[in-house]
Amino acid sequence: MLYHSSRGQTPAVPAAMAIKLGIAPDGGLFLPASIPSLTPDDLDRLRGLPYAELAARVVSLFLTDYTLEELRGQAQTAYGPDRFDHPDVTPLIQLDEGTHVLELWHGPTAAFKDLALQLMPHLLTAAMAKTGAHGEIVILVATSGDTGKAALEGFRDVPGTRIIVFYPSEGVSLVQKLQMVTQEGGNTAVVGVDGNFDDAQTGVKQIFADRAIEAELAGHNQHFSSANSINWGRLVPQIAYYVYAYVKLVETGAIGPGDPINVAVPTGNFGNILAAYYAKAMGLPFNRLICASNQNKVLTDFIHTGVYDRRRTFHTTVSPSMDILISSNLERLLFLLAGREPAQVRLWMDSLRQEGRYQVGDEILGQLRAGFWGGFADEDETYTAIGRVWREHGYLLDTHTAVGWHVLEDYRRRTGDPTPAVLASTASPFKFGAAVLRAVAGEKALTGRDELRLVEDLAALTKMPIPAGLRDLGARPVKHERRCAPAGMRAEVRDILGI
Ligand SMILES: *Cc1c(COP(=O)(O)O)cnc(C)c1O
Repeated sequence: MLYHSSRGQTPAVPAAMAIKLGIAPDGGLFLPASIPSLTPDDLDRLRGLPYAELAARVVSLFLTDYTLEELRGQAQTAYGPDRFDHPDVTPLIQLDEGTHVLELWHGPTAAFKDLALQLMPHLLTAAMAKTGAHGEIVILVATSGDTGKAALEGFRDVPGTRIIVFYPSEGVSLVQKLQMVTQEGGNTAVVGVDGNFDDAQTGVKQIFADRAIEAELAGHNQHFSSANSINWGRLVPQIAYYVYAYVKLVETGAIGPGDPINVAVPTGNFGNILAAYYAKAMGLPFNRLICASNQNKVLTDFIHTGVYDRRRTFHTTVSPSMDILISSNLERLLFLLAGREPAQVRLWMDSLRQEGRYQVGDEILGQLRAGFWGGFADEDETYTAIGRVWREHGYLLDTHTAVGWHVLEDYRRRTGDPTPAVLASTASPFKFGAAVLRAVAGEKALTGRDELRLVEDLAALTKMPIPAGLRDLGARPVKHERRCAPAGMRAEVRDILGI
């Protein structure tokens, strides 16, 4: 299987090279030349398999230059019991008659990004060997909060790698910030950027595109790579849990083999929902992919109008990992919807860069609307969703999953579609404990308590355990105090690497 750039100006490469490079040299994103299929018989054969085995098999269909044996070993390490605190890895919880919550947060950092970032360092170090590359990989990450910590955990002390994470210094929760600045590992660095997530992401993209710094690095036998969801090695492990969820629903008798389901995904950079799209394209009977946004509803508007317009007020919300106005992974979907036509993708991306907007034609809009439903939840609706689900079902949603739940309910109200749905739950409620406590116990519960105390209060109130990765955060020593302006990110990289 070869990988093509969405911008069409890079020669096709095998998976290992696509993963090593992260982003294509022409600025595009790598996509597999075709989408492997899973027939109903194939799905039958996946029934009853442990998560790691199923994941290895799904991933191997895309990464044909890796052996199944190799991927099996990597997946067993990545999804082992010392990393994930649930034997199912991604347990599926039934909320009501037709709603199943896929809990994607049982890994070390309590958010769904662990599913990708526990596996990806293995894929990447193997990719170095497969491409005959020598030297050290320098991972650069821009994070809206959860990616950073998940990448730090995934790469910490992995031989042959270093990792530098940039986060918006005022755009993440105290818990997220403490998780990152207390990070251990001799190969880790963490820098706060005075700006929002898009500033940090733009800065990282500029460093990747900077030939001068690349040459300097090469002189030190170092090479940049990315762990953002633009890297195919981040995306491909995520396809597996949608396959797992479907197989599990059949296994438990919740649906019959071949029955359709809808999938609702709280969305930011469009990576998680794109993985669901790939699972659907492989042959899983997914009806509608429900794309849920918070107040930064650029994707909702896009799905309704065909106009992607980033020129709007940026909102800092209680679901910060979705506070994004440029959803990078959407470029992959556009490439597929445009019939793999890179010239068209280049026009849209140029327009986005120069004018802050682009518009797709009616044909593409029709396809987009047939496959996706776009909706959003404002702040009040997010709190209300958490409170309601807690009261009615005794189940605690985090703020991001609550956005997904709200949009799923709204979709059902508006369309009357009774198809059973899987709701991707992207974070533990304790990761956003203050907002969740406010939703279930009212604003007064927050008075005089800092975010760390509130996490404990939430545990006491709900009698639920705090995930190990979030316990005792306040007591851990701060190891990273760097801070810079967006324009100073290059200089930070040089300083950290000593070049
Ligand atoms: C990253 C993240 C999202 C958004 O996922 P994308 O793949 O960027 O769309 C949603 N919720 C949480 C908790 C996240 O960490």
